[in-house]
Amino acid sequence: MSMARNFFLHLHTINTHRFIVCKLCFKMGLYRQGLTHDLSKYSPEEFIPSVKYFQGDKSPIVAERDDLGYSRAWLHHQGRNKHHWQYWMEFISGDIVVDEVPLRYIKEMVADRIAACMVYQKEKYHPSSALEFLENGTEKNFMPPKTLATLREYLTWVAENDLDTALEMVKNDETGN
Ligand SMILES: [Zn+2]
Repeated sequence: MSMARNFFLHLHTINTHRFIVCKLCFKMGLYRQGLTHDLSKYSPEEFIPSVKYFQGDKSPIVAERDDLGYSRAWLHHQGRNKHHWQYWMEFISGDIVVDEVPLRYIKEMVADRIAACMVYQKEKYHPSSALEFLENGTEKNFMPPKTLATLREYLTWVAENDLDTALEMVKNDETGN
């Protein structure tokens, strides 16, 4: 595929993703986060490698890692976006520590993961898609315990209720797990 074609396809993917996240965030009362979600994806540091490694059915970050062994786009992204648990990693007295993610960013994480599943899986998306992605992956082994328990509970609500009801439940939850 040509770079020009990838440019517009990637732009469309980001815009669609942000639009869905925004809608979901608004339903949880997260207006500022909904509007500003993933804005760093428009920066050249993230946009250019993402065009180069554009996939359509999965994140370009995966393809960039397959090629280079790491992803420049991801490193730029994870350091600037609080809805990723990796943002909260730090090196403290000889150990890599992941701080618990504040509740409002776990909620944004829920919107992000639902939207990513919708965009990449298209008609194959189903209410348990985001929960399955979490359970089938290995990142859960690295997330801090309270963050994982809360995210898992929220995604279970999404899997077991209609989406508006689940988002209302998440919105009203003030304690997490
Ligand atoms: Zn993000």
